[in-house]
Amino acid sequence: MTTTQQSFALNSLTQDFLARDEHFLFINGGRVPASSGETLSTVAPSTGETLATFSSGNAADIDRAVTAARAAFQGEWSTWTPYQRQELLVKVARVLDERFEELAQIESLDMGAPISRVLSSKPALMRMLSFFAAQALNISGETLQNGIPGQVTTMTLKAPVGVIGGIIPWNGPLNSQFWIIGAVLASGCTTVLKPAQYASLSVLRVAEILHEAGVPAGVVNVVTGRGSEAGTALAAHTDVDRVAFTGSTETGQRIIEASTSNIKKLQLELGGKSADIICADADLDKAVPAAAMGVFANSGQICYAGTRVLVQRSIVDEFTEKLLAYVDTLRVGHSLDPDSALGPVISESQLDTVLSYVDVGLAEGADLLYGGQRLADQAGGYFMQPTVFGGVTNTMRIAREEIFGPVLSILPFDDIDEAIAIANDSDFGLGGAVWSENISTALKVVQGVHTGTMWVNCYGYVDPMVGFSGTKLSGYGAKGTSAHMDTYLYTKSVYIQL
Ligand code: NAP
Ligand code: MG
Repeated sequence: MTTTQQSFALNSLTQDFLARDEHFLFINGGRVPASSGETLSTVAPSTGETLATFSSGNAADIDRAVTAARAAFQGEWSTWTPYQRQELLVKVARVLDERFEELAQIESLDMGAPISRVLSSKPALMRMLSFFAAQALNISGETLQNGIPGQVTTMTLKAPVGVIGGIIPWNGPLNSQFWIIGAVLASGCTTVLKPAQYASLSVLRVAEILHEAGVPAGVVNVVTGRGSEAGTALAAHTDVDRVAFTGSTETGQRIIEASTSNIKKLQLELGGKSADIICADADLDKAVPAAAMGVFANSGQICYAGTRVLVQRSIVDEFTEKLLAYVDTLRVGHSLDPDSALGPVISESQLDTVLSYVDVGLAEGADLLYGGQRLADQAGGYFMQPTVFGGVTNTMRIAREEIFGPVLSILPFDDIDEAIAIANDSDFGLGGAVWSENISTALKVVQGVHTGTMWVNCYGYVDPMVGFSGTKLSGYGAKGTSAHMDTYLYTKSVYIQL
């Protein structure tokens, strides 16, 4: 494992964007300062240096944006045909395809994901836009039989829900915002997005690009600012019909409370502590790198990270040896370095939190097998060694709490029933995997683990055609499949007396 510290060339469009004195809110098709005039700044976690200044929106700005979104929802946008909305999504995909390098650089600088990771996420974004473009033509009600005397014809109609509040985390906003934007454009809804303070820039840039690509004014609005001001105002606003939220379980609970103001519909994707189960007959050449990157990708800052690696006791030594050899090849460095496998974590305070979990693990008696330290040779950046604990038991805090950093725990198990029991002994239920060459074993685990998504002999695939969702404290509400679109629509029952 090595580190790098250099400067990297930026696309001229990225440079122009970052050269702005202040990144304004994006409301009703235009860039506007916050009504208070207040600003916040965002840093590049690879250097700890200030990257940009952006407007700090408050409740008045949220109200302005919701008003614009409501007007757009009721205006000309409501007359667009499904074909027009599909055509728009296809155009959006084409423009994002052209502008992706610029967006990837902004994202990588602002939140620290390795540029190789962000660039390689482009096909997934293109697939998501294709999926939503197809959904635009796939909205239909039903004609239904009925038992009403006389000639009454009955049917259901699907109509867009209205104004969607989108509250976005910092751990991958460039792509994650499109779960909302795609469904909004396909359904005829409108949205107000509140990105995280740590990583608002790619969301602001995307809003401008969407507008240039033909998304009408007011359909996609962005209010940057504090979660405690802009976020709470959006979650509580009585003219917002639905909120899609990704972030911590605690904030998710606040969003549920705020939703009672007008009975908002919700989709919540919250924390996780997923179990990656490695059976004795697993193909370790595939399972080892996948289990490592199931945690260390994005420096552990992925909700479905497989942070509890459950390994059958007979292969623990072999697995551990191979894992440590693999981890030793991982290069940690500046997020724009194409050779960095791991970038920094998001902030100094998050780094402190993750390091404090290393102390917790040691105090609880886990064996620190690799890493555990801040990387001191990276002046200013929030770099941490990939960290591996062995001999972890499921009662330890490092096995129960979401660390959201590059910390992997190995938990030995004896038989499949015990592995399933350990996997289920968690407050969370987001992801999970099983590695076995025996399909019966794999299916038993898939059926036994109480979680929203399971992978067999792979980790982390997400396709909107298949979906991804959580259960227990990991949240609720479908992402992907036609069920996703259904949450952007409401069903109207229609009775026609002929
Ligand atoms: P967070 O506080 O839940 O932030 C997520 C989003 O919610 C941000 O846009 C945030 O704004 C906003 N927000 C904060 N408080 C709010 C409130 N009361 N009402 C409405 N919106 C509010 O999560 P975080 O601070 O970024 O990270 C904390 C932990 O959450 C992480 O350590 C991790 O455990 C978990 N997390 C999970 C995911 C996931 O994908 N499941 C993603 C990120 C974080 P500001 O950031 O601008 O304050
Ligand atoms: Mg930042």
